[in-house]
Amino acid sequence: MTTKSAHSAYEEVNALIAQAGEVLKLKQGIVNAISSCEREVTISIPLHREDGIEVLTGYRVQHSSARGPRKGGIRFHQDVDIDEVKALASLMTWKTALIDVPFGGAKGGVTVDATQLTSLEKEEVIRRWTRTLVNILGPNRDIPAPDLGTDAQTMAWLMDEFHRLEGFQPACVTGKPVGLFGAPGREEATGRGVAQITAATLKENGRKVEGATVAIQGFGNVGKYAALVCQELGMKVIAVTDIGGGIVDKNGIDIKAIFGVKSLSEVKSDNRIGPSDVLEIECDVLIPAALGSVINDTNAEKINASFVIEGAIQPITASADKKLRSNSIVIVPDILANSGGVMGSYFEWTQNIQQFSWPKEKFRAELDVRMQSAFVNVHETSKKYNTDLRSAAFIVSVARVADAFSMRGSLV
Ligand code: NAD
Repeated sequence: MTTKSAHSAYEEVNALIAQAGEVLKLKQGIVNAISSCEREVTISIPLHREDGIEVLTGYRVQHSSARGPRKGGIRFHQDVDIDEVKALASLMTWKTALIDVPFGGAKGGVTVDATQLTSLEKEEVIRRWTRTLVNILGPNRDIPAPDLGTDAQTMAWLMDEFHRLEGFQPACVTGKPVGLFGAPGREEATGRGVAQITAATLKENGRKVEGATVAIQGFGNVGKYAALVCQELGMKVIAVTDIGGGIVDKNGIDIKAIFGVKSLSEVKSDNRIGPSDVLEIECDVLIPAALGSVINDTNAEKINASFVIEGAIQPITASADKKLRSNSIVIVPDILANSGGVMGSYFEWTQNIQQFSWPKEKFRAELDVRMQSAFVNVHETSKKYNTDLRSAAFIVSVARVADAFSMRGSLV
């Protein structure tokens, strides 16, 4: 269960932009302009189900194109609403600016429980979503990608529908299967980036990477690869959970051995825990990599880690963030920690445009170098302005977007 914050997710993001605007002494008009969404579209999606037609609600919010075509995933989840999509679209603007890729921000979603859709139903939903929104999508306009409840297969259907309507343009969507214009390395990119940022954070704080204990909530795309790469880098993953619960082992779990399971309930263990118990485990590093708002006023005081690396988007509410920091817990914000995904999407997009494919090793090497560079930039900014890492990340990205917005001129 997640607990919603007192403020909406979108308001929480706008508060961070306003705070960065104050530090940077931006004019209020600029702050207002770069905070607002360029376009918000709500659509209906009639879906043929066994017992008749169900009409679902879908969204695409384009937050900013100041620095390039809008970029952002599509979420299929029962809790999706316009406020959440606006917050997520805005966060994409700040994430793409932070890692300095030539994109703006967008996000999409459909209010539906993805686990209750058959494969055919899921295909119908994404094809309808694409058909209805095709005029505002495209490689130079707005490029979707997977998020919660959608995956490479969903993106393949999206691409196919887009091609039927607009002709061959594989750069219209990222996160595609490798056999269908996807990039080797993209699937693991978010989790790999989370693990690299975890190692860099430990080193930055004078802690050893080797043997550092890590607990992870979520064993999907992000959590699984984060766990695997943390293990490869020498850390000890002591707990993992998914929606059905998970396992703890103080001696370290062999992630390679369980990597292929569909659900952690398949893993035999005498030490089983509930889905959220992992958040309160004593460890060096906690990585929430499932849902938003899982660390909130109800459990903030019980977090028993030195570092929280945000694999998921907005896993910590604003008031819980303050409590964690007052307990000297270092938080690495989502727009830095999980930015490996959109970095990987950028690599896929450029390769599609050039009709050229990188080997996986080149993809990984480029990802690691660029993640490290964003990490250093955020830390230097945090020292310069004497702020926490989240505020620093927003100072970097708000400065870049405000600059781009201003340079485009007053008559746009
Ligand atoms: P996913 O659907 O592949 O996996 C989600 C995981 O979370 C699953 O293991 C699921 O069982 C688990 N989960 C769901 N509800 C849970 C609960 N109540 N308690 C414990 N575990 C629960 O999704 P993903 O792509 O791994 O995304 C995870 C998070 O990371 C999301 O917040 C997403 O927005 C964010 N994110 C994803 C990417 C990406 O490239 N996939 C990039 C950036 C951010």
